[in-house]
Amino acid sequence: MTQAASPTPPYYYWPVRVEGLLIDLDGTLYTNDGPVSGARGALERLDKAGISYRFATNATHVPRRDLASRLESLGLPAGEDQIFTPATAVSTKLKAEGLSCFPLVEESLMEDLEGVPVSGDSPGCVLVGNLGEGFTYSRLDVAFRHLMDGAELVALSKNRYWQRAGGELSLDAGPFVAALEYASGKGAIGVGKPERAFFELALRDLGLSPGAVAMVGDDPELDVGGAQAAGLRAILVETGRYRPGSETPTRPDLVLESVARLPGALGV
Ligand SMILES: [Mg+2]
Repeated sequence: MTQAASPTPPYYYWPVRVEGLLIDLDGTLYTNDGPVSGARGALERLDKAGISYRFATNATHVPRRDLASRLESLGLPAGEDQIFTPATAVSTKLKAEGLSCFPLVEESLMEDLEGVPVSGDSPGCVLVGNLGEGFTYSRLDVAFRHLMDGAELVALSKNRYWQRAGGELSLDAGPFVAALEYASGKGAIGVGKPERAFFELALRDLGLSPGAVAMVGDDPELDVGGAQAAGLRAILVETGRYRPGSETPTRPDLVLESVARLPGALGV
């Protein structure tokens, strides 16, 4: 990889040596309209240059296997183990700490928690994801008692609501996390972007230090703010959620028209 001497904005060789990347999915590699133009070619150039990367997403509704097939259907090949989600982060964390969990997450997501001991009897943590109709009084009541007995409260997502395909809004995991926080008096540990732990665990997965990695994404708060707070550099792309003015107040280290410009900016 080459390092540029004198940058010529707006698309210059970034005068920073990056060994690894965390790349957001929705809004960065694809949007509702399909893959971002040039995304596939960009990934191929990164592969050729030997830059390692993980796809870092806050998706909690589906397992990594489904995300990998979605990428493949868009012509963006990705191995399941290249995808880093809040469930991946929590699984890494719980295995490292030897904690068991009482999961309030969709059955389909359990495959991403493989290897984490599940316990209905004094678990180390209560893990809350999107359980929809499964959030019954009795399950929440059991979770509450585990918290009162010393379990940590861990949230895959704190989103308030989500939009169904027809446009209708529905309760997400956040309100149930808030109910358990309120009842137990415990604050929930978040494990998605922009939480510092998410970035630290993703870096551990990459085997690189924060200074050697940049986050690439379309969300100023989750991608740029979160990454910079964890010591990574942040590259904002002008696709997806981006709107003119999105750069402020987070001040990304670099702004690119789209992910297609990434290899050029890195000099690969
Ligand atoms: Mg995004």
